[in-house]
Amino acid sequence: MRFALLGDNRIEAQPKLNGLCCCCSKPVIAKCGTRKIWHWAHKSKTDCDNWWEPETEWHRTWKNNYPADWQEIALFDKRTSEKHIADVLTANSLVLEFQHSNIHPQERTSRERFYKNMVWVVDGTRLKRDFPRFLKEWKRDGISEVHQTEKPGIFEVWFPEFCFPEPWLKSSVPVIFDFFGDGSIDDPEGLRNNFCCLFPQVGIYARVAVISRKAFINTTTNGEWTFRVQEFINEYRKRDEIRRRESQQGMLYSSNRVVYTRIGIPLIRGYNTYKKPRRRF
Ligand SMILES: [Zn+2]
Repeated sequence: MRFALLGDNRIEAQPKLNGLCCCCSKPVIAKCGTRKIWHWAHKSKTDCDNWWEPETEWHRTWKNNYPADWQEIALFDKRTSEKHIADVLTANSLVLEFQHSNIHPQERTSRERFYKNMVWVVDGTRLKRDFPRFLKEWKRDGISEVHQTEKPGIFEVWFPEFCFPEPWLKSSVPVIFDFFGDGSIDDPEGLRNNFCCLFPQVGIYARVAVISRKAFINTTTNGEWTFRVQEFINEYRKRDEIRRRESQQGMLYSSNRVVYTRIGIPLIRGYNTYKKPRRRF
């Protein structure tokens, strides 16, 4: 953890300091070595937040895009008595969780239920194959069927399982993939400077938006993010409903075109489905 309580103050780890955990109030000690990022650790193994993962530079850099008093906020659910530390809780009650490690889909679901209004930011460079796979699909060289919509920067992905890591596909909240890596892979189109946001799959297709780092940080900071996401989801839900109705009507229309031959074989008018039987010798 970056912060611990010393009296009433939240302070950062400094050599030889002791403090109390902001979540469980148990003693924590400052770990200020050279190998890991300076942090606070519990004195003994404890049943503090079991969702907490060891922090990396990537976590810290992300958190620092937001004010310090929004970072590492302990949230408590009175109903279940659960307590967890949100990486960032904005002034508009949006939780941002920065996820570097692998996560089991069940834990992902639990965290989404607990935080409700949240967005995941996933380190897309954790596995070496993730970015090359995404790049291949995004350049239409793959099989996931990425289609640009009439809105700039918004895409429909028919088979997202070939494009994004599996644990995130069924997320009920937006997932940002941060592919900004160490520059070891060629990225002439500058895709790494932007994020790919996978929206909750409530419609026929997965929807993905390509957004800039700056726009994401600005809208999550000023509170526009939640409103815009909801508006976008409502819009594509409506659009999919219209499509569904149109395709049902289309099927009805086709079924009107089905006539039956004398021997009961359906024949579709206008289609060359009836073939003259081959002469048998
Ligand atoms: Zn604790």
